[in-house]
Amino acid sequence: MSDLRGLYQEVILDHSKRPRNFRALEDADYHAEGYNPLCGDRITIYVKLENDRISDVSFQGSGCAISTSSASLLTETLKGKTLGEAEALFERFHALVTGKGNGDKPGAVPLGKLEVFSGVAEFPVRVKCATLAWHTLRSALAGEAKAVSTE
Ligand code: ZN
Repeated sequence: MSDLRGLYQEVILDHSKRPRNFRALEDADYHAEGYNPLCGDRITIYVKLENDRISDVSFQGSGCAISTSSASLLTETLKGKTLGEAEALFERFHALVTGKGNGDKPGAVPLGKLEVFSGVAEFPVRVKCATLAWHTLRSALAGEAKAVSTE
């Protein structure tokens, strides 16, 4: 278990030092800003949709290692996913970091690398850091929900 924990920390450090998809999307369909006053994390999420699929997602901002790596892994995980899959992953991720298990069941969308945040459950003050990018994404897509309601 301690080996696994070491590996998880390595992944988190790697993504905080070299965040993936760290850029503004000029032609984003939706974007939103998020702020975590408890820690000072600030983030902007950009999303491009094709029908109900996330064709591109990126972020910018500054924050602690947990918030930056969480945003980086979010973009890596959600690219190509449908909105339904993204919502299911958000629920699983939220359960994971709040210590309610990882929501794994047959047919569940795999958490994949997001599992590295399982240790956050032991540090309640860090939960807001880990979920900031996800809440920000949801807020960006809230504008989208109106746009697609005509379908
Ligand atoms: Zn933070």
